[in-house]
Amino acid sequence: MDSQLQPSGAPGPDRVYLSVVAPCFNEERNLPSLLERLTRVCRSVAGSDYEIVLVNDGSRDGTWTAIRAAAAEDRHIVGANLSRNHGHQLALTAGLTLCRGDRVLIIDADLQDPPELLGEMLQLMERQQADVVYGQRSDRQGESKFKTVTAALFYRIFRRLVDIDIPMDTGDFRLMSRRALNVLNAMPEHHRFVRGMVTWIGFRQVPIRYRRDARHAGTTGYSIRKMVRLALDGITGFSVRPLRLASWLGIGFGVLGMAGLVYTFIAWIIDQTVQGWASLMTVVLLMGSVQLLVIGVLGEYLGRLYLESKRRPLFIIEDVVTGSHSADAEPGSGHTDDPAPPPHPGRSADNA
Ligand code: UDP
Ligand code: MG
Repeated sequence: MDSQLQPSGAPGPDRVYLSVVAPCFNEERNLPSLLERLTRVCRSVAGSDYEIVLVNDGSRDGTWTAIRAAAAEDRHIVGANLSRNHGHQLALTAGLTLCRGDRVLIIDADLQDPPELLGEMLQLMERQQADVVYGQRSDRQGESKFKTVTAALFYRIFRRLVDIDIPMDTGDFRLMSRRALNVLNAMPEHHRFVRGMVTWIGFRQVPIRYRRDARHAGTTGYSIRKMVRLALDGITGFSVRPLRLASWLGIGFGVLGMAGLVYTFIAWIIDQTVQGWASLMTVVLLMGSVQLLVIGVLGEYLGRLYLESKRRPLFIIEDVVTGSHSADAEPGSGHTDDPAPPPHPGRSADNA
């Protein structure tokens, strides 16, 4: 199965024991601490057999400059620069396609997920023979009430609508095996809800509880618009039940309509018809809004179908940099720019 699902660009003989993938959007101020903490923990678990893949997702600050500088100094660091902001899920996907590890840790660049948990995650993966060890937040520090309440609401609705059993309080912070990653990378959809897709893959997946810290520096890159889009991608990507909403509403209003008809008929027979403007308006407005809602749901699916049908590449990598010398051996040495095309030309991104 592995060979069948091996996506193009997947690692060949130059594999490493461990990859860490972090999408970065305006994370300039978090990079030094992130790299310091990641490097320390990677060295302790993997010696020098690791890589840290940082994907710059069209940041407007000095993130890319900082990544280039870091990659120039340390051959364990791979930097990829996307051509523009593609959004968290696609930036992550770009990193996952580039990375060469037998195991891959997905982590946010803002240090909300503690890198130090990696040792324990690796042990758990080994001990439980798991393909995925996912972080489950027991506590969320420094996040707004709005964010936690909407997230809780979303996951409750999501679990009702969707057939896969997505774990609660779980983001993208997780350790994955190469075989699980190969399956994920072979899934071609544009509107990606990575945590759902990983759950969908199956294999053995085990949780690890952790406390989610507050952001180290900077502000969230997830605007309300991006949150809504992620929520819609999640639901529409895994369920067609909202499409059935139309049928259910149709049946419901059909029954109400029949009752109304009977009432009208009786009222007409006993000559009690009154000129009811208010009731008429209520029915018209109600029917109008239900129809718009249903058309909106149809539109969400139709739009996604249209965008998927274009088969554009998922993301565009403008530049990849890797340090050519070891940090342990020669700090400060140069980097090479690799103008190689993205490993997945042929698929892409526009979920605008
Ligand atoms: N991110 C990204 N592109 C975006 C928005 C966010 O690559 O358009 C990255 C960001 O740098 C971080 C991760 O995705 O590493 C999670 O984003 P953020 O911390 O802003 O979201 P929150 O934790 O507030 O949900
Ligand atoms: Mg964050």
